Formats: sequence, C-alpha cells, structure tokens
Amino acid sequence: MSQMQKKYIDLHIHTTASDGLLTPEEVVEIAAKEGLSAISITDHDSIDGYLSAQEKAEELGIELIPGVELSLTHKGEDFHLLGYLIDCENPEFLKKISSFQEERRIRGEKMVEKLNDLGIDLSMETVKSIAGKGSVGRPHLADALVKEEFVHTYEEAFARYLGYHAQAYVPKKYLTPKEGIELIHLVRGVAVLAHPGNTRTSQAIYDFLPLGLDGVEAYHCKHDRDTTRNLTNTAKKLGLIYTGGSDCHGRKKDKILIGTVKVPYSCLDMLRKVKEQNY
Ligand code: AMP
Ligand code: ZN
Ligand code: FE
Ligand code: FE
Repeated sequence: MSQMQKKYIDLHIHTTASDGLLTPEEVVEIAAKEGLSAISITDHDSIDGYLSAQEKAEELGIELIPGVELSLTHKGEDFHLLGYLIDCENPEFLKKISSFQEERRIRGEKMVEKLNDLGIDLSMETVKSIAGKGSVGRPHLADALVKEEFVHTYEEAFARYLGYHAQAYVPKKYLTPKEGIELIHLVRGVAVLAHPGNTRTSQAIYDFLPLGLDGVEAYHCKHDRDTTRNLTNTAKKLGLIYTGGSDCHGRKKDKILIGTVKVPYSCLDMLRKVKEQNY
C-alpha cells in the first residue's frame, strides 16, 4: 500500500529584503527544488521580500505565507517575534515597519561609529552597498568587516565586535512585547515567539502569554530534537500553537538551510485555525 506523501513547510526564511543573501525569487526556487509545500518569508521589519516572491511562488505552485520578524526589547534583552498571515496593506503597519527600517539605518551608523572609535576604518557606504535595499542588520556589518579584511570570518565579526555586548554592539530599542504583539494583531496576524531555544528566551513564553502571544517556534535550525519536543509540549500545555522554519539567511555555510528543518504541514493548519478563531 502506498504511503501518503508527507508535506513539509519552512516558515522562517530571510531574503535580500533584510539580511539574507538570497533574492526572494531564489528562495522560492530552492523551496520548490526541496519539494516544500509552503514557505513564509519573514524578513526583519520588511514585507518587500514576500511581495517580490509572490509571482514566482504562483508560477512554481508553492504556497507563500505573508510573514515578518519584529524585534522586541524585554528586560533589557532582544527577542524576536514572528507575525504570520498578516494583512500587508494596512497603512499604519507599513508606516511602522518603515520607521523600524529607518531606526536600523541609524543603528547601523552608530555601530560603524563605534567601530571607527576602535580604530577600524569601516565606512557606512560599504555597509550600505552590501545591504542594498534591505533593512540594515548586523549581518551586513559582519559581511562588510570580512570584505574589508578587518576580520577573517563572519563568525569572528560577531565574536569580536557585533555579538550581544561585544565592543561595537548597539541594541535596538523600539518595541515592547505588548506593542509587538498588538502590532501583529492589528494586521490580523498570528504572533509567534521566534526561536525560544534557550532558557532566557523560553522563559519569555510565560511573560508574553498574558499579552496575547499565539504560538512558539518549536522547529528551528538551532533547536535539537529535545528542544523541539519540549517546546511543542510547552505550547500544548499553555494552549499555544507551534510552528517552525530554518531561519535561512543564505550565507555560504547555511546556503542549503531551506527545507532542512522538517516542519510538518499541520503547523500551517494550526496558524490558519488561530487566524480564523481570532478574527
Ligand atoms: P540584528 O537584527 O541587526 O540585531 O541582527 C540579528 C541577526 O544577526 C540574526 O538574525 C542572526 O542572523 C545574526 N546573528 C546574531 N548573532 C549572531 C552570532 N553570534 N553569530 C552569527 N550571526 C549572528
Ligand atoms: Zn536575520
Ligand atoms: Fe530571529
Ligand atoms: Fe530570523
């Protein structure tokens, strides 16, 4: 007897619209080659990648789910919030994310200034040429530091300068968890806490729960099987849904991350069900 073909999805992918290296069209092509049924492009503070990928997704018969990844500040630390099935035409939302992109440019300049103070002669022009139209992030600065040979590798750039609390790190400060979840709900989306794979982030599930959090990202490239299982169990216990994705940024080492994290199609069914129930 033939077994029904299992359907897989990838709900966390970055493109050149933020700090990914693959274009939205390339992402869709790779997803098709990987045999995925559905994907979500979840760029930092941008939906431009999602919009650009629509035509290719239709052509190749892949379901494309509108998504975004927002940054939150909570207890002085950075957390990421994924918003799914969002209404991409809401003017208030579009204005907000474009202001976050502006904040990212300003933060990028501050980090360049910090690097300059450390004697590293990196220019914002180099960073801008790498970021292109994408919303500026630390990965662009890391690429710029490698390109100008101030460090040997992307990882070294984070370890020495750009990682949390490293010498040139500048935090982002623009959304509280409440504001972030409200913003996703304003556009009739489903709010999911991104990669809560360590103690610090998994603790936040309980903090965000009373604020209306809808789900947690259980499957992720940095979650081992135990972590994924623990997170799905926690979600079930708390009445949350769980989702997952590769968080592919398309950098050399992880170029093939799309589709490597096996996320069952049922996660997308859960997202749709929450959306139906909430709105
Ligand atoms: P940003 O939103 O500008 O703070 O940049 C966050 C992104 O930087 C994340 O999505 C990761 O892709 C990348 N990142 C953060 N920390 C590291 C690290 N220690 N090593 C490599 N990449 C990192
Ligand atoms: Zn990123
Ligand atoms: Fe993230
Ligand atoms: Fe991400």
